[in-house]
Amino acid sequence: MTITDPIPTEVPQTDWLADEQRYDSGVYHKHQVVMTRAEGATVWDSTGREYIDCVAGYGVANVGHSNPEVVAAIREQAGNLIVMPQTLPNDKRAEFLKELVSVLPAGIDRVFLCNSGAEAVEAAKKFAITATGRTKFVSMKRGFSGRTLGALALTWEPKYREPFGAAVDNEHVSFVTYGNIEELRAAITDDVAAVIMEPVQGEGGVRPGNAEFIREARRLTREKGALLIMDEIQTGFCRTGKFFAIEHFCADACQSADGIRCGCKAAEDCMVVPDGMTLAKAMAGGVPVGAFAMTAAVADKMPAGGHGTTFGGNPLAMAAGVAAIGYMKRENLAQQAAEKGAYFMEKLRAIKSSKIREVRGLGLMIGVELKEKSAPYISALEHDEAVLALQATPLVVRFLPPLTISKEQIDSVVAAFERVLTAEK
Ligand SMILES: *Cc1c(COP(=O)(O)O)cnc(C)c1O
Repeated sequence: MTITDPIPTEVPQTDWLADEQRYDSGVYHKHQVVMTRAEGATVWDSTGREYIDCVAGYGVANVGHSNPEVVAAIREQAGNLIVMPQTLPNDKRAEFLKELVSVLPAGIDRVFLCNSGAEAVEAAKKFAITATGRTKFVSMKRGFSGRTLGALALTWEPKYREPFGAAVDNEHVSFVTYGNIEELRAAITDDVAAVIMEPVQGEGGVRPGNAEFIREARRLTREKGALLIMDEIQTGFCRTGKFFAIEHFCADACQSADGIRCGCKAAEDCMVVPDGMTLAKAMAGGVPVGAFAMTAAVADKMPAGGHGTTFGGNPLAMAAGVAAIGYMKRENLAQQAAEKGAYFMEKLRAIKSSKIREVRGLGLMIGVELKEKSAPYISALEHDEAVLALQATPLVVRFLPPLTISKEQIDSVVAAFERVLTAEK
């Protein structure tokens, strides 16, 4: 990558890094850079240095940073209407809901709108409780559901939960090994409201689920009167090579010809379509948004006034979401992610390094598990190669680029990764 000259000294430089570090709460490990601009899969810092971005705002910028269609929609909407509560219907909200339901599996056609992933999980819990009259949940070991107290209770990583002690309600949650049908069967007792899982575990190390386990979860939850909730916050919106990752695990007979959604005529006939899906991250092209999408059977059990949020469904996010989903459909972004992901993983697998244990993933959700800690290599990618990548568990390097990334950029990332793996330390 090119590293352009630093900004000439006569340009007054504000010490943004010092200010951010001084006034931030301190919960983040701040990198020693200040990012100021991005386009597609390219990010620039305040010195003009150009990076290839395989972080994408933690898997948010699927349609590319500052996607022109999203930008135009935000500009136009900002001049019309930014905020309007959900008791007052709005044209963009109606458009967005219809557009979202058009890409969701058949039967998932009622939506609670909110502003983030954790909020979508909080909503999922409340809807599951009211739909079943039960309060227990089954979640997955290595699963991630977010950091608010209710979502945290479903998040497995003990270091996220333990500092908050009894305030995290773990009495109502049991964790089963992801993929272990016996453990799952034992955990789904008559008092379980819902089983929640990611179709591909993201934070837990990029671990794709397996069809047999997911189908069995669907069968068992139906049998026991519990809901199945799929957390598609990271995997949704074309990231894994399908519009939603559960489509990978549906029986072949369920797949529709266009490949965009599960072709089941009714959710009950499908082997994987859940009762609810948590959505967020990429849904509005980078603007904060979240949703819990569910069947009518689930939605109808929640009384009016049973849940709510001020910013949810705000017209600005809705306009961005209409543009983002429209772009995904028209550009067949799922297909792009499938092809580019296969290419990316094939090239990663060709790297000759004894430090690599496994390359795994689905579409452009890719993890490289090393035989040693991944953090030094992620730092080296940023500092020496101007490539931004993410960690997922201590051993895994995670690549979550915008789905618009070019093959040339993928080639550059792989070459850079090979150099940092083979560099003398
Ligand atoms: C990111 C993420 C969340 C939390 O979303 P936030 O918007 O950060 O609250 C929940 N579940 C999964 C699978 C995620 O990847």
